[in-house]
Amino acid sequence: MTERNLKARIQKGVFVLDGAMGTQLIARGVEPGRCNDWLNVELPNMVLDVHKAYVDAGSDAIITNTFGANRYALGRHACGDKAFEINKAGAQVARKAAGQGRYVLGDVGPTGDFLEPLGMLKRDQVREAFAEQVKGLREGGVDGLIIETMTAIEELEVAIEAAKSAGGGLPVLASMSFDKGGAGFRTMMGVDVATAISRMIALGVDIVGFNCGTCTLDEYVELAKAYVAAAQGKVPVFAEPNAGKPELLDGQAVYKVTPEEFAAACGKIRDAGVHILGGCCGSTPGHIRAVSRSLKP
Ligand SMILES: [Zn+2]
Repeated sequence: MTERNLKARIQKGVFVLDGAMGTQLIARGVEPGRCNDWLNVELPNMVLDVHKAYVDAGSDAIITNTFGANRYALGRHACGDKAFEINKAGAQVARKAAGQGRYVLGDVGPTGDFLEPLGMLKRDQVREAFAEQVKGLREGGVDGLIIETMTAIEELEVAIEAAKSAGGGLPVLASMSFDKGGAGFRTMMGVDVATAISRMIALGVDIVGFNCGTCTLDEYVELAKAYVAAAQGKVPVFAEPNAGKPELLDGQAVYKVTPEEFAAACGKIRDAGVHILGGCCGSTPGHIRAVSRSLKP
């Protein structure tokens, strides 16, 4: 039987998550725009290879390749009916890379559409879609669930409700994506840090965080301070910043922050009181290795 206990482990000090998946798949020959989630079923060894690169880099937890594996996002690739299978396969391949010694977090990303009244999606149906995804992830053997890159409070709420109701007691991490503007840190849908955290805590999230976004590294450090202040010690905070602010080159987002610069920023985020750290867009095994080496004893 397993000795893994995510919540107990997190109490013990710096805990390193992994970095970006999509760019690593593209680096292995996957065409941009393909359904990355389906690769868990079609080319599991390629996904395994990316996970292993992060394990080798020092990740304590790896995140499943299931960011878009809800029936709505999958529907854009004509595999909306395969959500359970894709999530189960994604959890299994991550577990294979993590072995029994590292943690696997089941990734839950947004639908890519809006809930009523802004859009057409109904709350109950979206909750059911996330529950289907969570059941697949559980069946495949994840240690916890991580809801990421949310920008709308309604969608965040139903994702958390699904993770709580279908997750069988697994720890739930939840994060929103912030940009810095004139009104301070806000998600694309206008949610501020205090609102995000109070809703997450009220719905029983175990660890609250932020990921992705368009901030500079210094702004991510500032965002970490805002998170720690708003969480008031009630729950731990996690951070998955991008490797700096993207620059557009030929229509592609390019991230130029080096592993050393990224690790230095993560050191400041740790000093701000956030000891669960990983990377989002632009981060690579090299960035995660630098974080692991500089922050873990
Ligand atoms: Zn990202």
